[in-house]
Amino acid sequence: MQPSKLKAAPVARVAPVLGSVRAKVQAARLAQAIPSLRAAYEQALARWMGDPVLRLVGLPIVTECYRSPERQNELYAQGRSKPGPIVTYKRGGESNHNKLPAPALDVAFLLADGEVSWSGLLLSKFAQLMKAADARVHWGGDWPGFKDRPHFEV
Ligand SMILES: [Zn+2]
Repeated sequence: MQPSKLKAAPVARVAPVLGSVRAKVQAARLAQAIPSLRAAYEQALARWMGDPVLRLVGLPIVTECYRSPERQNELYAQGRSKPGPIVTYKRGGESNHNKLPAPALDVAFLLADGEVSWSGLLLSKFAQLMKAADARVHWGGDWPGFKDRPHFEV
């Protein structure tokens, strides 16, 4: 292809979108959050989607909000009695994810190709928006020691 034709080619980038099934899952997860955390997330999401660059890079999604104590214990076993990296230092009942409504939620990003990303750069950008939305929001990426970058809590 000649350079002149390259220049004329349309920009093929499209923003990732949620299908109706995923949109329902997102709404159900967000409904588990305490109102202040839900409001902060919705405001941060709206700001993200209003940014012409960020909205193309990835779509924020809640991967988990409420988590049963049984599932928390399964995650605690990971990296200890079961294979895999350590992902939590909290046993069942000890995590803010184990309360309902939950004062904690975990975030990732849906990419245009359908993959899910836990990019630290994207999470730190989203954390700025979450903390700007509500100063009571704490980001797991700011914690000393173990960094839990997908994690937000009030
Ligand atoms: Zn979490």
